[in-house]
Amino acid sequence: MTASASLLERSDKKTADREQHTSANLRGNGLLNGKVAIITGASRGIGAASARIFAASGAKVVLAARDAGAIATVAKDILSKGGQAVAVPTDVGDPVSVERLVQQTIDAYGRLDAAFNNAGDGHMPTALADIKVEDFERAIRVNLTGVFLSMKYEIPAMLRNGGGAIVNMSSTAGLTGVKGIAGYVAGKHGIIGLTKTAALDYPQLNIRVNAIAPGPILTDRLKQLKNRDQVALAVPIQRIGEPEEVAYTVVWLCSDQASFITGATIPIDGGRMAGVA
Ligand code: NAP
Repeated sequence: MTASASLLERSDKKTADREQHTSANLRGNGLLNGKVAIITGASRGIGAASARIFAASGAKVVLAARDAGAIATVAKDILSKGGQAVAVPTDVGDPVSVERLVQQTIDAYGRLDAAFNNAGDGHMPTALADIKVEDFERAIRVNLTGVFLSMKYEIPAMLRNGGGAIVNMSSTAGLTGVKGIAGYVAGKHGIIGLTKTAALDYPQLNIRVNAIAPGPILTDRLKQLKNRDQVALAVPIQRIGEPEEVAYTVVWLCSDQASFITGATIPIDGGRMAGVA
């Protein structure tokens, strides 16, 4: 067996072990009991996994994304397991749509305590001079403007009930350059700047704002990659992460247990940003 085949086998076994912990019976820890949370990009991938784990942790969850059918399906699944959830079709790049998302959250649950601004979009890998202007603009609109608009409307709603916690989705591509995806990298770097600034704008008003920077996580885009073993080899822990491993960190950051953490960016990357292994 080659080194990379053996690595993949070990990685698949670890994944199977973790799945027993997660999909069969999502561990609810009560960390978010009584809190109302918005999760953007909740139609699939990390956002959908996070919505399920937020609900299992006691939150009333508002799922946002453009695909109305997909967020309704995730919400129905949460309701069927005894959680509380509503789905609000939203385009995070559109101020009217984001303002409506926050208003519908208040209409449904009366308050807003937490938000995971996770929606994101990339573009085809291309050297910078060949990136289409519309592709660059879409990456900035969804990743950067989307996080700005989300916070712009979430923060006033949180202030009305005495504060809250926000987690913005960056990436290891927000901490270092990545060849061929300048629009995505610029957006994800910008999210860290927005996060630090928002954290400094509201510390006395009990609003905490943090970012996370995941490395490779096994969602649809990575599942399609033929060279997944190469991706895993570049991670010191030697595997690709699971969406649930991101979600549990976000739950904790949104909880009162993280009460002294604001303005931070936390890598969730199997050690990749620590240096060369
Ligand atoms: P994904 O499966 O492609 O999900 C992206 C989510 O964003 C979908 O729910 C999508 O929903 C939503 N979205 C895209 N454009 C939107 C818009 N204009 N308005 C509202 N929602 C929109 O990706 P993922 O892997 O779960 O990634 C989620 C986030 O993590 C992204 O921000 C991504 O950049 C970041 N991230 C991922 C990885 C990774 O390896 N997977 C690593 C680091 C960071 P609709 O299409 O229904 O709108």
